[in-house]
Amino acid sequence: PRERIHNFNAGPAALPESVLRVAQDELLNYKQTGMSIMEHSHRGNSYEQVHEEAKTLIKELMNIDDRYEVLFLQGGASHQFAMIPYNFLKRGTRANYVLTGSWSEKAKKEANYIGQTYSGASSKADHYTYIPAFDTIKTSKDDAYVHLTSNNTIYGTAWKDYEPLKEWNAPVFADMSSDIFSRPIPVDHFDLIYAGAQKNLGPSGVTVVIVKRDLVERFTEHAEQLPAIMRYQTHIEGNSLYNTPPTFAIYMMKTVLTWIKEQGGLEEMKRRNEQKAALLYHAIDESNGFYKGHSDNASRSLMNVTWMLPTEELTKQFLTEASEKLFSGLNGHRSVGGVRASIYNAVPMESCEVLQNFMDEFAKKHR
Ligand code: PMP
Repeated sequence: PRERIHNFNAGPAALPESVLRVAQDELLNYKQTGMSIMEHSHRGNSYEQVHEEAKTLIKELMNIDDRYEVLFLQGGASHQFAMIPYNFLKRGTRANYVLTGSWSEKAKKEANYIGQTYSGASSKADHYTYIPAFDTIKTSKDDAYVHLTSNNTIYGTAWKDYEPLKEWNAPVFADMSSDIFSRPIPVDHFDLIYAGAQKNLGPSGVTVVIVKRDLVERFTEHAEQLPAIMRYQTHIEGNSLYNTPPTFAIYMMKTVLTWIKEQGGLEEMKRRNEQKAALLYHAIDESNGFYKGHSDNASRSLMNVTWMLPTEELTKQFLTEASEKLFSGLNGHRSVGGVRASIYNAVPMESCEVLQNFMDEFAKKHR
């Protein structure tokens, strides 16, 4: 039997096997220092190099210019749901949340504790089956910011084209937790990007924030009313070392980023991810309606492929047989049911091929 199974978990999720081997090799004695990287001081040379290298790799791979700061924070994307409005939603202004799934709703809900929000577009009435077209999204130059969720982990939809964001006259913020580093994106169309690491970047424990320095500076006076730990300014000034960072998670992320670079960067990730997703969408489309994809065709995610079977019973049988075949993590999110295959960067092509074959055979047998 295979040593490692086909891992379709939504997050925490599959990591590249070679990355795990590097971590294993270095675990007891990191670069001849006689201790694990976990045991090093966060202010010492060994860790400092890891910290800087992770930052540099993020800037290089995403092509981020000097107007932006890259921060390593904690508390997951959920903490950013609160930290963003604390810092940027002043009394008397309104933030605009484009609702494309449960995570956008949660982000908006947190902001409501702090200030006023509205929603310039939502696909909720259609069970979040699509991303609203740009010409249907209301925005205003008076928006404190517009917030979007780039990839909807639960529903399996994703934004495709960010060019029209240039037309928006308010700062644009994006939760990219579930598709950051899956393909190149125009970072300069955004003022703040954040992502929990546990899908494409490494283990849970670190949250990457990419923020425009002048945005933070414009809000300095407002932020001074907040506890220091809640201010972006604090973490910029402290180089993400204001408090002890999650050093091992950042080390793992650095190792994943090195792997992405060696594989050919984000263009190559995109090429592979498109190919992998195409295999599963093909199985859905060629099943004569046996599998029903949740997303409309134009909004299909490359990271989370979601579909339903004709009955609850068949869904159960599909999932049981799948787990017998050494597939892990295929249950749809508890809020929507059905099946979800999360195929982040580290999920090999082979896993998608094996799943596609399984889907084809299952459909033939039960249709
Ligand atoms: N946003 C998105 C798009 C997510 O997929 C998730 C987690 N699945 C979250 C936010 C919440 O992240 P965390 O658990 O790191 O707070």
